[in-house]
Amino acid sequence: MAAYEYETHTYDAIVVGAGGSGLRATLGLAEQGLRTACITKVFPTRSHTVAAQGGIAASLGNMGEDNWQWHMYDTVKGSDWLGDTDAMEYLAREAPKAVYELEHYGVPFSRTEDGRIYQRPFGGHTTQFGEGPPVQRTCAAADRTGHAILHTLYGQSLKNDAEFYIEYFAIDLVMSEDGQCQGVVAWSLEDGTMHVFNAKMTVLATGGYGRAYFSATSAHTCTGDGGGMVARQGLPLQDMEFVQFHPTGIYGAGCLITEGARGEGGYLTNSEGERFMERYAPTYKDLASRDVVSRCMTMEIREGRGVGKDGDHIHLNLNHLPKEALHERLPGISESAKIFAGVDVTKEPIPVLPTVHYNMGGIPTNYWGEVLHPTAEDPDRIVPGLMAVGEAGCASVHGANRLGSNSLIDLVVFGRAAAIKAGEVVDRGSNPSLNQASVDKAFDRFDGFRHAKGNVPTAELRAEMQKTMQEDAAVFRTDETLAEGVEKMYGVAAKLDDISVTDRSLVWNSDLMETLELTNLMPNALATIVSAEARKESRGAHAQEDHPDRDDENWRKHTLAFVNGKVDLEYRPVHLNPLIGHNEGGIDLDKIKPKARVY
Ligand SMILES: Cc1cc2nc3c(=O)[nH]c(=O)nc-3n(C[C@H](O)[C@H](O)[C@H](O)COP(=O)(O)OP(=O)(O)OC[C@H]3O[C@@H](n4cnc5c(N)ncnc54)[C@H](O)[C@@H]3O)c2cc1C
Repeated sequence: MAAYEYETHTYDAIVVGAGGSGLRATLGLAEQGLRTACITKVFPTRSHTVAAQGGIAASLGNMGEDNWQWHMYDTVKGSDWLGDTDAMEYLAREAPKAVYELEHYGVPFSRTEDGRIYQRPFGGHTTQFGEGPPVQRTCAAADRTGHAILHTLYGQSLKNDAEFYIEYFAIDLVMSEDGQCQGVVAWSLEDGTMHVFNAKMTVLATGGYGRAYFSATSAHTCTGDGGGMVARQGLPLQDMEFVQFHPTGIYGAGCLITEGARGEGGYLTNSEGERFMERYAPTYKDLASRDVVSRCMTMEIREGRGVGKDGDHIHLNLNHLPKEALHERLPGISESAKIFAGVDVTKEPIPVLPTVHYNMGGIPTNYWGEVLHPTAEDPDRIVPGLMAVGEAGCASVHGANRLGSNSLIDLVVFGRAAAIKAGEVVDRGSNPSLNQASVDKAFDRFDGFRHAKGNVPTAELRAEMQKTMQEDAAVFRTDETLAEGVEKMYGVAAKLDDISVTDRSLVWNSDLMETLELTNLMPNALATIVSAEARKESRGAHAQEDHPDRDDENWRKHTLAFVNGKVDLEYRPVHLNPLIGHNEGGIDLDKIKPKARVY
């Protein structure tokens, strides 16, 4: 057994992660007087939420008529009828309240002439249950909404005496013999000390796992650590096959090039210099919907017409546009292209690739954020002491596809809900119990990787995983590519046993930290590709060439992936019942009956 000295900290509640969801949960817990700690591997305001520009959806109706029922309808349709009805209702209904709370906490929202919160239009957000014109529902703080939210929530959390453990890496959950969560084991990256956080409630808010792919718009820290920790406890990951792609991430860096670039007249070309979108989408060409453009780009690459030395990306051309137009309308893009691709957009094309933007799947929860361990008899059974919120969780409000600006609202609505629920269930008078065997197991695993003497360097194996996922589990999916991909990914995952870590120290050992992150990315990646291979239909972000139609009869159900060497799949029913009836002001269920998702 590995012998590590460690310090034990006891709290009512701990939150792992300080993005929008983690900070909202932390603040809500601390406000109720619960002794709360937030543990985060990066400084709170460096969490990926900081990159969110577009905004946060809520039916405030500041720019025209709107109501939560319309927002709920759009979310149901966006989810391609895979979201849970109760959770989607809760999201849409609580959204205005959650945004006004943010306003009162001090988020500097942009304003209308008469001083109300400014709202902008966003794709998929409509009026009259999809029958009316687009609505302006997305509240924004200029083009740095996520930044404003993070800074505000961090300040408020400190004000309410939440304690922060910054640059602490949570390694594993501590679980009792009978499956109750008791906290986490963590490693201080800065001074190499080890810690056990023992708590009555543990909230995972660790973000997405975009970095399982070669190209992702998310930060390098988005490594699905929460999903990895949960999977190692024999708990399932839900709907992992649904991964949202954006057509134009910068090749290699993954930074987002906004759709506006094509809106201003930019177009895509292949290695033959052909404007191939004209062939696939004669009417809308380069402005066809995100998933369509991403699929066509992938098709070109697969058929050998990709650009670059490895023929593995596509060119986005802006150099035909007048210099003034580029300078005035796309200054940010010109700068990103210069910094991240070394390209002068007035002269050369930008190398781009369909890029992972969001993970709809994650740790299954109910709409209070309580983590589920479903059984056949009880598909809604909860894991006592454990919650998950934000992109790490799957409530599920985004189902098979997330609408723009619906993630930021998910963070605050469910971060807040988790805090409310924890306030009800945490027994303030008691002390949390601690299963020493579970603590020891976490240290053993840590020690094993710290001294790993295999032959495969972490960076090499990570690249292999990312390339495999990008090739076989990205946008273009067929029975054959997915089946091949599953075999390849099992091969890649097996190499974790032969991993090589060269740095044995405990202080700022990025080699070891990245190895632990890789052990978290791997189960997320495996669950994604195996779940995708099994789903024989097309729904939302999962477009399967051999099964082009949505099949509600057989596939309107959530996938549960249990990852333990192999991946075992089970399914659980989609929640179809709303929280309040139509008579009490709830949604008319007729309005949200499944139909084709066309825009
Ligand atoms: C470029 C970009 C633009 C976007 N724009 C929008 C937008 O305009 N509107 C919108 O609604 N959505 C947008 N999204 C999506 C949205 O921003 C994210 O889904 C959301 O911010 C995720 O927040 P989170 O709280 O779940 O996690 P994150 O913000 O990713 O934070 C994760 C936290 O977990 C911590 N953590 C992780 N692992 C560990 C560990 N092992 N130990 C300790 N701490 C750990 C990290 O330190 C971090 O604090 C965008 C996403 C990207 C990438």
